Amino acid sequence: MAVNAAAFHSLTTELAAKNVTLVAVSKTKPATDIEELYNLGQRHFGENYVQELADKQLALPPDIHWHFIGHLQSNKVKYIAPFVYLIHGVDSYKLLVEINKQAMKNNRTIQCLLQIHIAEEETKFGLNEAELDELLRNYKNDNLSNVAIKGFMGMASFTNDANQVTKEFIHLKTLFDLYKTAFNLGVLSMGMSGDYQLAVENGSNMVRIGSLLFGERNYTK
Ligand SMILES: *Cc1c(COP(=O)(O)O)cnc(C)c1O
Repeated sequence: MAVNAAAFHSLTTELAAKNVTLVAVSKTKPATDIEELYNLGQRHFGENYVQELADKQLALPPDIHWHFIGHLQSNKVKYIAPFVYLIHGVDSYKLLVEINKQAMKNNRTIQCLLQIHIAEEETKFGLNEAELDELLRNYKNDNLSNVAIKGFMGMASFTNDANQVTKEFIHLKTLFDLYKTAFNLGVLSMGMSGDYQLAVENGSNMVRIGSLLFGERNYTK
């Protein structure tokens, strides 16, 4: 419990100077921790689990920008569609179509990021380059009116090898630059507690940071 206020202040100073948006990742943390950071001025919070996000949204101030950063199943989009600010993990066209449908029901446009697979590991979610190209082509053709693809998101390999991580971030930035003009992309979400500095050096303008602000997560509770 209790947030690291000193880390928050140095992080926000560092990121503001570079025009990087901080998403505070509050998954598994109690609403009281979020409130503490909110009272220090933080407004962007990220969650991975639909039920947890929906519960916290009800309990916390209405001007929080809620980011969904986990793996989203199509059948759960409806629970967050009324309020979610940005969905980071869109990794299939089917999911995008469902988000569009639920956004329409709620009379709003939902901002999305496409998750790109950049890590060496097999287990991480995300689109490969061929899938990305196909998804963007479908999006353009079908003219989905209630979703807006704002940019890309990616997670680097979980490794201490800075060269490997840098290579993966550069790969994502290169893809972002390739599509940004044609699709009017502005957001590149990459970097977490352990690698956000490398991510920002390599072009990230949105970082998702949890443990540095809230301490280590305890999944056993
Ligand atoms: C949990 C999580 C983070 C934050 O991780 P930390 O290492 O605690 O900063 C960032 N992005 C995603 C997608 C996550 O699931």
